[in-house]
Amino acid sequence: MPKIFVYTELTPDGIIKDASLELIGRARELGEQHGFSVGAVLTGYNVKKLAEELIYRGADEVHIVDDPMLAKYHILHHTRAVTEVIKATNPDILLFPATVLGRELGPRVAARLGAGITADCTAVDIGDWVDPVTGKKFEKLLYQIRPTFGGTVMVAIVTPYHRPQMATVRPGVYPVPPRNTSRAGTVKEYTVTFSKEDSEVIEILEVESEKRKVDLKSAKVIVSGGYGTKGNFKPIWELAEVIGAAVGASRKAVDSGWISYDHQVGLTGQTVKPDIYIAIGISGAIQHLVGMKDSKIIIAINRDPEAPIFQVADYGVVGDLFQIVPRLVDRLKKIKQSQG
Ligand code: FAD
Repeated sequence: MPKIFVYTELTPDGIIKDASLELIGRARELGEQHGFSVGAVLTGYNVKKLAEELIYRGADEVHIVDDPMLAKYHILHHTRAVTEVIKATNPDILLFPATVLGRELGPRVAARLGAGITADCTAVDIGDWVDPVTGKKFEKLLYQIRPTFGGTVMVAIVTPYHRPQMATVRPGVYPVPPRNTSRAGTVKEYTVTFSKEDSEVIEILEVESEKRKVDLKSAKVIVSGGYGTKGNFKPIWELAEVIGAAVGASRKAVDSGWISYDHQVGLTGQTVKPDIYIAIGISGAIQHLVGMKDSKIIIAINRDPEAPIFQVADYGVVGDLFQIVPRLVDRLKKIKQSQG
């Protein structure tokens, strides 16, 4: 049976990151539709105990390198460990989350294996492909789907001639799969010999921006402001506060220095899927839409009735945000007060 493998990224405290669970969930879906088994690659120290969780989330097999040399994330040691597992198991497909770590580790593993890698996919699927030159037909290839040309075109990239087919996939585009404690799977351990590297990881320090990272991905409601705010984000923060929402932003607002990058939604920001997304003074450029179009309900406030955001909005208000939003905030505050 062909195999899809997913790299298991851990936090410095040894917790499995959602970004990897999301990929295991997607691999499970593809596996059931197209007949692939699902494997998780787990590298670290004292990590064996996590195998069960990976199986509950959808893995059929867990391949582990558990070694003190992997206690702290050292790129060269982890590259070696993952590469050895892949050489021993020969999966058809290998996915990494497009996190900072996955973006670093994935390409290094690809280089060691002589494979290619498509970075920052916004979707992955399985399909057939015919080489237009030779006419040779390939079945069940990995479609590595991502925007290109500044987000104006979506492409599906295939790598028919190399194995494994590799991609990094954006966090947040697939849901975290539910735990199914009745699932069973196999666990296999590998021993890898590590050579002493020139560099050593002494301590991992969280940077300030990581500590106060805005958690847009798990927010149920997001109020986002754009260039239409003209730099006055007060109405956006006020509305967000009164309804308990997180604050997002367009890139133009971020690039103007009105709000920090961790709030940016879109192609080069975060991909979000809240229950409600309120876009205020945002035109709805394709690069913004790719990051929020899968929100359950989209509400747009924009003074231009022709703004493209209205094409994806479920509810639209045409008008000046500086008149509409403060009135909305007042009204919501009164409703809240009357409800005690
Ligand atoms: P604008 O397009 O200028 O729109 C402002 C809107 O505000 C207008 O529709 C206007 O009608 C409205 N408005 C003005 N005044 C008011 C008012 N008083 N009341 C109500 N409405 C008002 N963009 C992203 O957002 N995220 C990304 O990740 C991203 N990545 C990119 C990557 C690449 C490679 C490229 C080339 C571009 C990227 N962009 C991204 C930029 C994107 O193309 C747009 O430039 C950007 O999204 C526009 O931001 P905006 O809607 O806030 O501004």
